[in-house]
Amino acid sequence: MFIYTPPSLHSRSVSKANDPMHAAKHFKRAQQDPRYDTFHFTSHDNPHISTEALEEITGDMTALSYRQEILAEDVEEAPGALWTRGTLDACRISRAPESLIRVVIGVDPPGGATECGIVGAGIALCKCKGVEEMHGFVLADESLRDSPDKWAARVVSTYDRLEADKVLGESNFGGDMVANTIRTVDPQIRYEDVHASRGKAVRAEPIAALFEQGKVHLVREFPALESELTGWEPGRGQKSPNRLDAMVWALTSLMKPRRTISMALIE
Ligand SMILES: [Zn+2]
Repeated sequence: MFIYTPPSLHSRSVSKANDPMHAAKHFKRAQQDPRYDTFHFTSHDNPHISTEALEEITGDMTALSYRQEILAEDVEEAPGALWTRGTLDACRISRAPESLIRVVIGVDPPGGATECGIVGAGIALCKCKGVEEMHGFVLADESLRDSPDKWAARVVSTYDRLEADKVLGESNFGGDMVANTIRTVDPQIRYEDVHASRGKAVRAEPIAALFEQGKVHLVREFPALESELTGWEPGRGQKSPNRLDAMVWALTSLMKPRRTISMALIE
């Protein structure tokens, strides 16, 4: 037997769990698994709470809190997040186009004990909206938490596997660290340094808008990347979303959204 309550806004923001939606995901899987019987109860089903008491409690709740606390819904997206689950599911496709025009690997190096974000993306002409347009495709999330030689090796293997044109590495505080670390593994790699001259949210927003416009596709599923996209809320001081950042670098370079960021070419 497994019982849980969905995380509320408050509990989620103080949770130390790597994935605050862990229990919710278990429940979702169990609902689709014939070996389990699953039950969902709201506060209205509780015989020990009167209708009057419920009305009083819910009087000053936001709609979101009401859904979480009273209806016991698993609201998967954070209210201030730039991406929603609905947007991500709508843009998902099952295979990448064969004629990718350019492929790049975005790398957001770890700051301290965080992960190294490694995301591969490409562009191709796409007819999904009836007319032929250049669309972006998220092809791989190979992010990992490991020593520099290990993440550099992962960058190189992803670059080789996707036959990428270039690696884009963020070099805000590391100087040449990212380039040097990757070149230790493969001196031939085509590499470009990118600098974050503007805040993460300013960089991420035009990319989130491209998703909303249906101009970027996720090729299959990237659970860890997707929970960063739907869980990261600008300005709330959350743990740095390295996968999100790596994806934003890659897609910004490929799709050059109008409100683009300045990228300095080092070599
Ligand atoms: Zn498309």
